[in-house]
Amino acid sequence: MSLEERARRERLLQQEADTAAACRLCAIGSQRRNNVYGEGDSCARLMVVGEGPGETEDELGRPFVGRAGQLLDRMLSAIDLPRDEVYICNTVKCRPTLAGPRGPRNRAPEPDEMANCRPFLDRQIDIICPDVILALGSPAAKSFLGRDFQITKMRGRWYGGPNGIPLMATFHPAYVLRQTGGEIEAVKRLVWNDLKAVRTKLDEMAAAEEVSLQPEQFSLFGDA
Ligand code: URA
Repeated sequence: MSLEERARRERLLQQEADTAAACRLCAIGSQRRNNVYGEGDSCARLMVVGEGPGETEDELGRPFVGRAGQLLDRMLSAIDLPRDEVYICNTVKCRPTLAGPRGPRNRAPEPDEMANCRPFLDRQIDIICPDVILALGSPAAKSFLGRDFQITKMRGRWYGGPNGIPLMATFHPAYVLRQTGGEIEAVKRLVWNDLKAVRTKLDEMAAAEEVSLQPEQFSLFGDA
């Protein structure tokens, strides 16, 4: 990707992040500390979409930086993708909370909150144009694939995401962390299979792109 194109995308993402930070369509927009727009490589081939920011993310204004984020980093490096080569964001950019006796607690985003935030997510997808989208957990998967999506039965398969981008859903790293006993290994194995499928898809797409680029490269030799 050219430096100019990278700079163009970064500029657009910054403009969008500023617009998202000013948004108060949902009540959580006035309750959160920071808007967590998203971060990573503006030319990433993989976009990871989670549910919504938690406490640490809200505090730091960055996605997936708590315990689940640390596991996500390890999951990505297991398929040779350093975090900074991926683009990471969420279905909602503000932390959804419930009032609790010891301060706000995390909750899943409501459908209207996801709908209000959807234009921001769609713009991120348009700007970054990833080769593959990985949705983490049921809310993210449902936001792309409809209310009837069942993560336990339907994860690990390829679907057509926004703009026809291949999309897979897998378990959320926070769900993996919540498992106990014999379930831990079984869930980790399923997630590992899904990640390997993502790696294979990215490699296949890169190989296909290389083949389709060859005629232009040949023309560089001229008539010699
Ligand atoms: N869980 C999410 O879905 N997103 C984050 O950014 C952090 C935890």
